[in-house]
Amino acid sequence: MFLVIFLLVLFLKEIISFYLDIRNLKYALSHKEVPEIFKDIITDEDFKKSQIYLKDRVIFNLWSKTFDFIFNLIFIFLLYPYIEKIVSSITSSFILQGLLFFGIFGLINLIISIPFDLYYIFVIENKYGFNTMTPKIFLLDLIKSIILSIILGTPILSLLLYIIKSDPNFWWKFALVIIIFEIIMVYIYPILIAPIFNKFTPLENEDLRKKIIELLERVGFNVKQVFVMDASKRTRKQNAYFTGIGKSKRVVLYDTLLSYPQEEIVAIFAHELGHYKKRHITILMLSSIIFYVFYIYLTFIVFKSAPLSKYFGVQKEFTLLTYAFIFASSFFYFLNPLINFLSRKMEYSADRFSAELIGTPYPLISALIRLVKENLSNLYPDPLYRTWYYSHPTPSERIYHLLTLEKEVKKDENNNSPN
Ligand SMILES: [Zn+2]
Repeated sequence: MFLVIFLLVLFLKEIISFYLDIRNLKYALSHKEVPEIFKDIITDEDFKKSQIYLKDRVIFNLWSKTFDFIFNLIFIFLLYPYIEKIVSSITSSFILQGLLFFGIFGLINLIISIPFDLYYIFVIENKYGFNTMTPKIFLLDLIKSIILSIILGTPILSLLLYIIKSDPNFWWKFALVIIIFEIIMVYIYPILIAPIFNKFTPLENEDLRKKIIELLERVGFNVKQVFVMDASKRTRKQNAYFTGIGKSKRVVLYDTLLSYPQEEIVAIFAHELGHYKKRHITILMLSSIIFYVFYIYLTFIVFKSAPLSKYFGVQKEFTLLTYAFIFASSFFYFLNPLINFLSRKMEYSADRFSAELIGTPYPLISALIRLVKENLSNLYPDPLYRTWYYSHPTPSERIYHLLTLEKEVKKDENNNSPN
């Protein structure tokens, strides 16, 4: 009975994700005209190109999901038990067995994923002119990530394995270690990890730097570090973000963003500032901590109560936990709509913050239109797909929202004026 439920949940998740992808593509392709709001800027040719780009990505997604699913089943029924047997014959140390188990699993997973990554980057993203990555950078990234995961993974995994073995009620210690690790990572990521992959240089454009610092000071924000990241060595797509906590806190602009008009960069930056000022970053961190605790607890409950050993023929705690984790993670897929609903609310509020801080929503509106055009975004995402997966409102939703703010922003100005 348990096996039936286990497989049912796995299949259900897969079927829903397939259904949503296909729905999204059908919906987008059923539209023949550029939405009114983008008519002046996005040509019919751009629009058609964006539809073909979407089609390419969806088809790629369906293939890679199918393969992933098949590999998952192969792992569940054949490979996990087999790897467990191999590592048990190599050493009698539980921690070493666990490290080898996840090491072998990680290696096989990596080898499987490489062809898919290569195809996505060098065929699809290349075709639309987004990719700027050379095979050399791809290979270097790969090597760096492997070394990094060994350096970071080995101590934390050893500690977790030790906890599992020494305390039968290990779940809360397990959660505590993961949370502490997460917080340390947020701190060291901008100073130690990100620079391994990218170069960060202080923003040189004095004019832009002044404008950004001025905004930071106006909202009482004690960050003086504005960095430019050489994102252009991998992609032409643009972004800006805040990162780090405490002393490692900083603002990062992609160098790909610097070609935008200055007022638009400032508006995008003000949006990011909104996420910080409205405590979205803290809320997200706290909710991810709560999320981890639930996740680990659910995994633990499955581990303790489900007859995993009987159905899958495995004995070691780390293998049993892997099965429990797979089962638990399927449930969390169904939380996507809720998490994204909250995230979209935050995006609206950051947009509002940007418009209010600058005193006009128009630079952000033109930046959004530019982003849609340059990134060949899907102009007609399916409503259900959006609800499930979109962490941001669609660009047109954001633009309409910003337009309604226009009056408010103006009204505020009148109220503030002395007469
Ligand atoms: Zn945002």
